Amino acid sequence: MNWGKDKAHQVSLLLAAKHFLAIFLPLVILSWVVIILFHHDERRDVLLNFETRESLQIEHHKKEIEKDFRSLKSDLVFLAGLNDLQKYLNKSNYKTLEDLEKEYFLFSKSKGIYDQVRFLNEKGMEIVRANFNNGKPYLVPKAQLQSKKHRYYFKNTFELGAGELYVSPFDLNIEKGKIEQPVKPVIRIGTPVFNSYGQKKGIVIFNYLGKNLFENLERGVYKTSNMIMLLNSDGYWLKNQRHENEWGFMYQNKRHLTFGNAFPKEWQQISGDKSGQFYTTNGLFTFATVYPLHPDWISRSGSGKGTEVNTSPLKANIYSWKIVSHLPSDLLKAESDKLLLKLFQFYIVFGILLAVGSWFLATAQVNRKLKEETVKSLNANLTKKNKELEQVIYATSHDLRTPLVNIIGFSKELGQSLKDINSIINNEGVSLPVKKKLAPILEKEIPKMFNYIVTSGYQMSAMLSGLLKLSRASRDSTTISPIDMNRLIISIERTFKYEIQQANITLKIDELPSCRGDMIKINQVFSNLLGNAIKYLDPKKAGKIKISGQRENCHAVYQIEDNGVGISSENQNHIFTLFYRVDPKSTVGEGLGLTIISKIVNNHGGKVWVESEPGKGSKFLVSLPA
Ligand code: ADP
Repeated sequence: MNWGKDKAHQVSLLLAAKHFLAIFLPLVILSWVVIILFHHDERRDVLLNFETRESLQIEHHKKEIEKDFRSLKSDLVFLAGLNDLQKYLNKSNYKTLEDLEKEYFLFSKSKGIYDQVRFLNEKGMEIVRANFNNGKPYLVPKAQLQSKKHRYYFKNTFELGAGELYVSPFDLNIEKGKIEQPVKPVIRIGTPVFNSYGQKKGIVIFNYLGKNLFENLERGVYKTSNMIMLLNSDGYWLKNQRHENEWGFMYQNKRHLTFGNAFPKEWQQISGDKSGQFYTTNGLFTFATVYPLHPDWISRSGSGKGTEVNTSPLKANIYSWKIVSHLPSDLLKAESDKLLLKLFQFYIVFGILLAVGSWFLATAQVNRKLKEETVKSLNANLTKKNKELEQVIYATSHDLRTPLVNIIGFSKELGQSLKDINSIINNEGVSLPVKKKLAPILEKEIPKMFNYIVTSGYQMSAMLSGLLKLSRASRDSTTISPIDMNRLIISIERTFKYEIQQANITLKIDELPSCRGDMIKINQVFSNLLGNAIKYLDPKKAGKIKISGQRENCHAVYQIEDNGVGISSENQNHIFTLFYRVDPKSTVGEGLGLTIISKIVNNHGGKVWVESEPGKGSKFLVSLPA
């Protein structure tokens, strides 16, 4: 027993697992497709976000640098045009020098972006030099002032005409022939100065601290700002995340450290275009070219080998740097992976819910299926048993008839024989006392008994033929076809024409909807119902019968209504049972008609029921497939 239960459990589990897979797998595939599409979309958005951010950032820095340089020019013009400088140039003495020194010192202190502010005379000798000294400015004592006549910036600046500006390349400060440590990136901007007689008397020059520019670059708008690089036009890094790669051109052993060497393909595009954005296998590159010099500036030096004298004029549109942002592919991938991880985490939770939901659905489906199968097999069993029962009814009702006929026949024979015995007793010399004793037995009791036997025999015979009819109602084959009920009822009415006329009955037949069924059997149903309506009319009032019908969804519902004797609610529950008759004495009948009707209608997938009130009439309703 237990083994059987376990087996059934196993089978239902296996079935549930199958259903589960059938529900779960397509859903998993579908949700994966959605997730992949979503990820693809989101990834594109992330990249677009990066692209926009970097473009904005680069553009912002470009503008900032160009703005800074414009203020450099105005500062230099201011220094060169100082009244105290003019006084000194026209007449150099202790007093004019002291005034000039004061001015330069104040200028250096208040600006805070120039490492050195200097005036050099026509021989290249430093005359005034205010050192910023990391926020503690001081004037360099006379004894420490140096001659710079051999430095390229002096030569380049001194050669210029009035109003011309010299801009050095961006490089590292050199003190006493060596790169100052820690490195100090500077740009020297100078202009020659003249006395009132137009004689060139020296140069004014200051060192702009590159630190400020780099700090601005690092103080970018987004957290990827530290990825921003500044390159000179030869591709050397002026600013790089890895500081050891910066200023390659300043060191003999670092000359190879250029952007072009690290990213040859990318450099080709960056050096060839003014601005742009592109992806390579190395990541996302966004760049712009900065032209720090104003178009009306005249410069005499290019970038690159900053220590050399360069006499050829350099136009503002050639002095340029590149601001480049590089988001490495690793970083982009990491962002995409982060997104993927989030989606994956979401998917795990979603997947678990999906699995639980699918499992519930699968088990519900299996349970329903199993129940349906159980009902099916019970129905099949029931039909089989019904058939067997009908077989038995048919066989018994059929086979019992022969002995019953014998019983009735021989009982009649016996009755005849009894009559013979009676006449023998009367005619032969039987004594009077014996005659008296036999007379009540032979003349009353035995005939009465024979009468009972014969009546019961007839009753039994009627019941058997009823049973036979009932079993035939189920056994006869059924041919389903559409039935025109209007025609069928008219033909039934014809068969009852005589009775209807005799009893003066008013029969009203409405327009009827058609139905589907076996013509002969449906005929039997309605003939029987009309027959009953006529039979059970109230003799005390004029008989009225109405037949009507209507469509209700996929069924046709017909009503046979009379104003006859009616049926009490108690009897309404029994009239469809076999051989049940409400009042057997008042009318003839077998109590079989409604049982057969109900069987036929049920076999058609329909229903029959009654609504009635004693004394008022009855309404029989038949619902059949339309
Ligand atoms: P039978 O008419 O042979 O008695 P039925 O099975 O046709 O057998 O009817 C069963 C019983 O239902 C009847 O005896 C009768 O009492 C009651 N009956 C049927 N039809 C009507 C009707 N239209 N009006 C009143 N009683 C009815």
